[in-house]
Amino acid sequence: MTDDRLTSKENIRRLVDGELPLEMVHELVRMPSKDEDRFWKYLEVLQERVEWPERILARLSDHLYVVAKEDGGRVTKCDCGQEFGDYRVNWKLGCLVHCRRSEEQVREVFTVVAPDPDYVEVREYYCPGCQSQLGVEVVPVGYPPLFEVLPDVDAVHELGGRPLADADPEWFEDRTAARTAAWAREEDA
Ligand SMILES: [Zn+2]
Repeated sequence: MTDDRLTSKENIRRLVDGELPLEMVHELVRMPSKDEDRFWKYLEVLQERVEWPERILARLSDHLYVVAKEDGGRVTKCDCGQEFGDYRVNWKLGCLVHCRRSEEQVREVFTVVAPDPDYVEVREYYCPGCQSQLGVEVVPVGYPPLFEVLPDVDAVHELGGRPLADADPEWFEDRTAARTAAWAREEDA
């Protein structure tokens, strides 16, 4: 039987692909009560598109997901299969980084108003597996990589009515500083 509701899985798929007509997108936004299972349908659509078996728990960006590993871990994973380790550690630490520091390098990407390279640098983060650009940031020189989002995965699943079996407040902790501190200790050793 075909599902001809506005929130059918097919429409969610078209929404993800950017192919849903704008009027329908507006209609979705204006729905007085949202479908209870919309989040799960969305995750199903995403899961069908990747070639790896790990369960997607959340989407971080066009390419990145939080997934559940068989051993109980939760890691950040690119759609190409590249893994960035524990999702509580900023995935940017596992990227290839192109840093623009000179005026000439900055002007290659800022053609109208360019930031001043005396004060800031432009960092581009690329996936080591597929070379997709995963992020760009303009930050003071030497500033730590911005951790764009640490989702409260447990809370989102609980809100959707299907709490995760391994829910634990420790999943919602930024562990980035612990990783860089461990690197510093290795250097000292
Ligand atoms: Zn990738």
